[in-house]
Amino acid sequence: MSSRQAPESIGRTLTPRRNKLAVAALTAALLAAPGIAQAAPQDVPAPQQRAAAATITWSLQRASNPTQDQLTAYDLITKAMNAAVTRYNNVSDLGKSITVRYDPGVPTADGSSSGTIRFGNRNYMNERTALHEIAHTIGVGTSSRWSSLTTGGTWQGAQATALVRQFDGSSAKLSAGGGHFWPYGLNYDNEFSNTAADRHVRIVEAMVRDGL
Ligand SMILES: [Zn+2]
Repeated sequence: MSSRQAPESIGRTLTPRRNKLAVAALTAALLAAPGIAQAAPQDVPAPQQRAAAATITWSLQRASNPTQDQLTAYDLITKAMNAAVTRYNNVSDLGKSITVRYDPGVPTADGSSSGTIRFGNRNYMNERTALHEIAHTIGVGTSSRWSSLTTGGTWQGAQATALVRQFDGSSAKLSAGGGHFWPYGLNYDNEFSNTAADRHVRIVEAMVRDGL
């Protein structure tokens, strides 16, 4: 299991999809009402003008004159991060600007809420680990609200709980501890599948809607 850095405070860049749709629906209703359209406030965007979904972006900090060891690591990290970020952007509307480093002093890999991910060990330079660490940058185990949202070792939020019950049945719950959650936490390589990875991303997004 990967370790994590101490939480740092940072403003979140995401815009929950639900809110954007609510604004669009409200605007559509206003525009549809007779005689109201011209009186609509200037700062309410028309539906077709609403902001695009937030996206996750990432960049790799490279040494200016990299060694062969660094070049090999950069290739593995790039494949892992591209796969994970593509999945996030296909499955969710979450947004984050992530900076990635190769640091051989890191035993496995870690992610902080400041948006930094460090990969150390070759065995962890894969999509599973990249997804897991992205979740840490978004707030899993690192948000100041994490402990209150995981009181008693169970996720307390309604949205993510409803989602895991949709996946696993009406008695399912999300357990949490040590800054991690399960099922679908992608805490170990043997948890990975395309289905589990998509569900992981959707649960993280629901956790954000729950106030992560
Ligand atoms: Zn972790």
